[in-house]
Amino acid sequence: MKTGRALVAGRWHAAEETFPVVNPATGETVARVAECGPEVVAEAVDAAAAALPAWRAMPAHERAAIMRRAAALLAERAPEIGATLTAEQGKPLSEAVGEVVAGADHLLWSAEETRRVYGETIPSTSADTRIMVLPEPVGVVAGITPWNFPVSMVTRKLGPALAAGCTVVLKPSELTPMSAVAVAECLADAGFPAGVFNLVTTTRPQAFADVVMTDPRVRKISFTGSTAVGRRLIRQSADDVKRLSVELGGHAPVLVFPDADVAAAAAGVARAKFMNAGQACTSPNRIYVHESLAEEFTAELTRLADAIVVGDGAADGVTMGPLIDERAVAKVRRHVEDALAGGARRVTAREPGERGGRFHPPVVLADVRDDMLVCREETFGPLAPVLTFSGDTRDAEDAVVARANATPYGLAAYVWTRDLARVVRVGEALRFGILSINGAPLAPPQGPFGGVKGSGYGREGGHHGVEDFVERKYVSLGLG
Ligand code: NAD
Repeated sequence: MKTGRALVAGRWHAAEETFPVVNPATGETVARVAECGPEVVAEAVDAAAAALPAWRAMPAHERAAIMRRAAALLAERAPEIGATLTAEQGKPLSEAVGEVVAGADHLLWSAEETRRVYGETIPSTSADTRIMVLPEPVGVVAGITPWNFPVSMVTRKLGPALAAGCTVVLKPSELTPMSAVAVAECLADAGFPAGVFNLVTTTRPQAFADVVMTDPRVRKISFTGSTAVGRRLIRQSADDVKRLSVELGGHAPVLVFPDADVAAAAAGVARAKFMNAGQACTSPNRIYVHESLAEEFTAELTRLADAIVVGDGAADGVTMGPLIDERAVAKVRRHVEDALAGGARRVTAREPGERGGRFHPPVVLADVRDDMLVCREETFGPLAPVLTFSGDTRDAEDAVVARANATPYGLAAYVWTRDLARVVRVGEALRFGILSINGAPLAPPQGPFGGVKGSGYGREGGHHGVEDFVERKYVSLGLG
């Protein structure tokens, strides 16, 4: 069994108290991890605050070199770290290794961006004054990450924060801490100065939040997780007026218009929906298909769903792992049962309960309506609800866009059409932070990933992501 330690002030912290990490496929305990109390969180903040002056003063190309080394180590260790990820999170090994490689790419991209955090000069109103705008790191950052992408969520916070010259205290999900420990090992081995990056493992997230929220040296919280916790953090941040980025839940619509390539749309939806067993904030939650394509689309999506091999993500040939816990399985079941009771039809072959435990087969539902639970709550599981729309006029287009927008969330939306004018019209009308048109990928490191409305605010990725960790100091300079 593995042991996970916290990393504080450059030292690996073994705690007397530990908590178990359970493999969701087997129920076995795969690791025991340091249970850090509030005093360790406080030490980590002390360390990050102490490391800040030297880190921010270090020339950007030197910071970039250390970050590049960390990215290279992460990529090099992707097979082992992927195995750790699968053991605690459940996704198939190939997806896990892909996530680690993507995580390394995020770090590398941020490393390169380190050298491009530019300032400005602005024309002043008199000959003997100058106006300059200087970029400065916001300061100590506390990061809180979820379990569904336990490597890439960590690197997407770390990369831009470190690139901007911030120091970080990170708390990973208590369900998947070993992936974060593995990232921390890469950073430590890459030669990050002590205290620049600190990892605190704990099963008491509120106690962590209480320390970082009340310490005035922590100037920013970067959170990815549920909307309920995000709201609490927004309220808590008010007292000390801390900066926040909150990447929260989603309820992504897919719009498949009559001129779409049906086979490509079904394949793209299957990929987006069943990746990570549907446990993604960008996962399609309402699939609106034009009635002229609905039969063909649903048949193809069903064929792809029925071909998915469900099992332990570490086993050969498995293409979908378990859900994270029993509660997650119960939620999928509830959504399926509610829809069936309301008149929807299950078109996939497998019975939802056939496998038991934390496994749930992919399910495609037809004849779904907007008022069903599955269309109102984020399922976070392998359930694809197909709804239809009719007409091919501007009014019909507006009507389906209005249905897509009728959610408190606003993270990702997917559009399938070969009509460029429609892409522009529909794209402008959709109230979401991210649009994928005809299956183009959503999360490359250079793209500003993030939501609107109940999906939160702030962007991760791209130069916008780095900007979230930068203060702009305005200097009005008199030449005397
Ligand atoms: P969660 O909110 O339960 O947990 C996320 C993190 O917050 C964990 O580290 C957890 O320990 C911590 N946490 C829990 N209670 C806390 C508290 N009171 N104070 C401070 N921290 C606390 O979410 P989850 O179940 O781990 O993740 C799933 C959710 O995350 C889904 O809603 C999903 O849509 C969302 N998500 C969003 C994005 C995005 O980029 N928008 C990405 C991935 C996941």
